[in-house]
Amino acid sequence: MPVLCDASPSRRQVLRLAAGASLMLLAGGMFRPGQARAATFAAPPLPYAENALEPVISAKTVGFHYGKHTIGYFDNANKLVADTPLAGQPLEKVFLEAAKDPKLVGLFRNAAQAWNHVFYWNGLTAGGGGAPSGKLAKAIETSFGGLEPCQKALTEAALAQFGSGWAWLVADPAGKLSVVKTGNADNPMQEGLKPLWVIDVWEHAYYLDYQNRRADYVKGVLEKLVNWDFAAKNLG
Ligand code: MN
Repeated sequence: MPVLCDASPSRRQVLRLAAGASLMLLAGGMFRPGQARAATFAAPPLPYAENALEPVISAKTVGFHYGKHTIGYFDNANKLVADTPLAGQPLEKVFLEAAKDPKLVGLFRNAAQAWNHVFYWNGLTAGGGGAPSGKLAKAIETSFGGLEPCQKALTEAALAQFGSGWAWLVADPAGKLSVVKTGNADNPMQEGLKPLWVIDVWEHAYYLDYQNRRADYVKGVLEKLVNWDFAAKNLG
């Protein structure tokens, strides 16, 4: 199973150095008085009610995870993109470009997290799970040998991600599907892969409901909440 986006020591060092700079940037953006900032990125509303994912994910978790975390990433991305050459560009372009520039690591993290979270929310639905159909079902069969091995790969990636991150179902440019995990804000598009579906395994995604039992959260999501129609649409 490919493991993408694991930071090499040199990259980790760069990220650590840049983290301080991004905090300064953020503080500069927050406390600059009298300067009106147009909201470049607007967080789309949740595609369902906060309690729609119960009992797998509680309304309380969705309330914090969407209302505080997701909105927070959008707010920070809006502050950090101003006064950069990427201001005015679409969210996806902003995080992919910012990923290449260590000076923009704070913007990358917040813009990528904003994108990742919208993708995550859209990939869940009440009464989800079950089995996909059509072209997606065929691609899963060809690439994994069936839905069960695909779900097993997603579970393993979600549980093996050390610390904060994501487990993704992706398609490569040839249309072959695979599962990858990324740390923190990283997104498979940085590696030229097309995301089809994702599960957030940051602790904020499950800790209120499951504490340290990440496996129970992952199992519930895969069995009851996966929006296969969303994944199929992304496959195209
Ligand atoms: Mn999250």
